[in-house]
Amino acid sequence: MKLYLEHCKICNNKIPLDVKGFTKSELRAAFSGDAFYCTCPTCNNRNIYDVNNVLAETDSSSAPGGAVLGGVVGLLGGPLGAIIGAIIGGSIGGASDGEDIRRVKTFNESF
Ligand SMILES: [Zn+2]
Repeated sequence: MKLYLEHCKICNNKIPLDVKGFTKSELRAAFSGDAFYCTCPTCNNRNIYDVNNVLAETDSSSAPGGAVLGGVVGLLGGPLGAIIGAIIGGSIGGASDGEDIRRVKTFNESF
């Protein structure tokens, strides 16, 4: 799961946030309040933002991770290993994706 601000106040670009939290109240605890400063990586403008504007999205890197793992197992075990590896890797990637989607939903529905 990745957290981001939908729009920079200056350039309107999406700002990825380098903070961890499963709910907005966890972010409030981390920032000691609703407001926090964030520097936009696109236009470099520092602005104050509100925790209520933070959104979560799935971290799409989890699925390729599963596929790569499957490939590595496959290299060790030959053709049969490749098939088994792909199945194991695919299911690991799939499982963490589902977990990620659930976390994103939890965050976006939190207050
Ligand atoms: Zn900006």
